[in-house]
Amino acid sequence: MTDPARGGPLTRRSVLGGALGAGLLVFEPDNEAMAETLAALTGSGDPRVHTRAEWRAKPPKNPSRVLSRPPDRIVVHHTASPNSPDSSLEHAFRLSRDIQRFHMRGRGWDDTGQQLTISRGGHVMEGRNRSLSSILAGRHVVGAQALHHNEHTIGIENEGTYMKAPVPASLWTALVDVCHWLCEEYGLDPRRGIVGHRDYNDTTCPGDVLYSRLPELRSAVAARLGGAPASSDPLDSEELDRATGPRARPRTGPGTSMETDATSTVRVQPDPAAGTSPGGTETTSPFSDGP
Ligand SMILES: [Zn+2]
Repeated sequence: MTDPARGGPLTRRSVLGGALGAGLLVFEPDNEAMAETLAALTGSGDPRVHTRAEWRAKPPKNPSRVLSRPPDRIVVHHTASPNSPDSSLEHAFRLSRDIQRFHMRGRGWDDTGQQLTISRGGHVMEGRNRSLSSILAGRHVVGAQALHHNEHTIGIENEGTYMKAPVPASLWTALVDVCHWLCEEYGLDPRRGIVGHRDYNDTTCPGDVLYSRLPELRSAVAARLGGAPASSDPLDSEELDRATGPRARPRTGPGTSMETDATSTVRVQPDPAAGTSPGGTETTSPFSDGP
């Protein structure tokens, strides 16, 4: 399809962006009709993202903040919860509810911290409210998943603990699909746009095994995108330095809310390497990653 007004391809983002600009759509958390519309708008090659209505999310304490620009990094996490053998959709929905409960009651956050969740069975769920609608509109929902970096990163929580255990093929396939989709929607180059949680914070997340596979993930997504860098890469050299450093400096500046500072925490671990030793904290409690 072609957008006659712009002469370019008609994308879901242009449709939604135009509609949003004209005030035709309203961001309302947990709006089932909206969610169904958005689910129908996802392309045939995109992952099936199960909406909050499907997994029966509780309403957030407050609606998420939506920034009118895309994120520049995708942060890969593990949930640091048990490696469940249950690959069912119902288990995946229960996982989403458990994470939300933990984040809202245990952490005291407004809602689920991360924007997307993938179960070990490969089921993909919307996390924080407004995430799916924002992704499809090229916008960014500020989550609580990477301390000091929530204003510019989108987080994917992958079910399980991957310090030593292998990543299930079903989860891996879905992760590639989701990262490909996000890179397309946001115009990101996967070779520098995909990072692990430990690149930003003092944490073992997403586990040694999953972290070691990030180069493979970047390559797989880049290959599917056609091998060419995204033409609209928004990053400047400072951003690149930050992303490629061993542990990036905390991002500071205006717009950092109390929530992002106070709640988007990471597992407290004096020595980042400690997680590799027996008795590390990776399995001390469900979702101890503090996604
Ligand atoms: Zn993490």
